[in-house]
Amino acid sequence: MKKNMLFRLFAAGLLAAAFACTPLNKIADTITNPQPRDLYAREFRNMKTTFETWDNAHNASLENGVEINLPYGEKGVFHSIEPAVYNYNINLSTGEMLSADIVKNNPRQRIFMEIYAWDESKWNKVLNAAADETHIEYPVMTAGRYKFVLQPEIGAKGNFFLAINKKPVYHFPVAGKSNSAIGSFWADPRDGGRRSHEGIDIFAKRGTPVLAATEGSIGFAGERGIGGKQVWLRTGLFGNSVYYAHLDRIAVSDGMRVHTGDTLGFVGNTGNAKTTVPHLHFGIYGFSGAVNPLPFVRQTSAILAKSFPQHFSVLQLKTKMKARMRSGPAGSYAILQELQPNESVALLGQHKDWLHVKTGSGKTGFVSRKLLRGA
Ligand SMILES: [Zn+2]
Repeated sequence: MKKNMLFRLFAAGLLAAAFACTPLNKIADTITNPQPRDLYAREFRNMKTTFETWDNAHNASLENGVEINLPYGEKGVFHSIEPAVYNYNINLSTGEMLSADIVKNNPRQRIFMEIYAWDESKWNKVLNAAADETHIEYPVMTAGRYKFVLQPEIGAKGNFFLAINKKPVYHFPVAGKSNSAIGSFWADPRDGGRRSHEGIDIFAKRGTPVLAATEGSIGFAGERGIGGKQVWLRTGLFGNSVYYAHLDRIAVSDGMRVHTGDTLGFVGNTGNAKTTVPHLHFGIYGFSGAVNPLPFVRQTSAILAKSFPQHFSVLQLKTKMKARMRSGPAGSYAILQELQPNESVALLGQHKDWLHVKTGSGKTGFVSRKLLRGA
């Protein structure tokens, strides 16, 4: 961080000397590629304290996120009673794409969206969106803990709907089919338990096209061993080899470049599948061997704002009685804190029957709507 700053000052000084008449920021930006938050800071040159308060709230919130399962929807509200940072912790599998979208009542209001990955001892930022973006997505290459952070610009006001979901990073590999056609899963026993299934089986009529799940080149196309007629697709993203087995016919040849959705062959039951009904055996092999292909291709449904009601009308709520604030929006999540009767909390948003709130001491969590007055 410090090194980066020094470099920036050095570059800026150098360029100021060389191009005294040219707008300094523009030139320095092409070299240092400033982050959206850094660009925003420039607007507060004469109001440093205002910016620092906002920035400190962001930094403090990294220790303090709520827990959610995907798909997740929240009707929220930006307001000045308690300027808030929205911070969600999410567990994700290799092959899933973390995706977040926001719809704001005031489209000109800027927001800062970031994605962090947990790295054994700290949160590392892996992606951020420009302040005028309303969508961010990140392909997960390593299963683990991730964090989505949303902070509105200083003084932001108005309602919004936030949708956080996971999508598969690859295209579904059988034409016209979806999740319900998957009939056998990763690690199912094979050969009487002597080996385990290193892939998923997708059932479809003989002759149904099998499709390139992503772009890449054909590493091998031919007939051999228990896989019968098979295609190996080498991909750049993740460095994976994608394996299609038991094909009836093959439509590609070694070395061919293919795009996502191209036909590689047709569903059949060649190899050791000759006694079963036609299906595609679909596998993915990474640097350290076979990985579960399901998260790479499992289809997810869109999150609709209308299925997330909004009951709140006031922004500062009080507990009706003793109330448990939980780490996530359900009774099964950990209790973070016991709120006292008549304790004030600021409203951040609503997920179904749970309100996302912030206490006077700055802790965020969820409280059942029934326990709050004004909701
Ligand atoms: Zn199989």
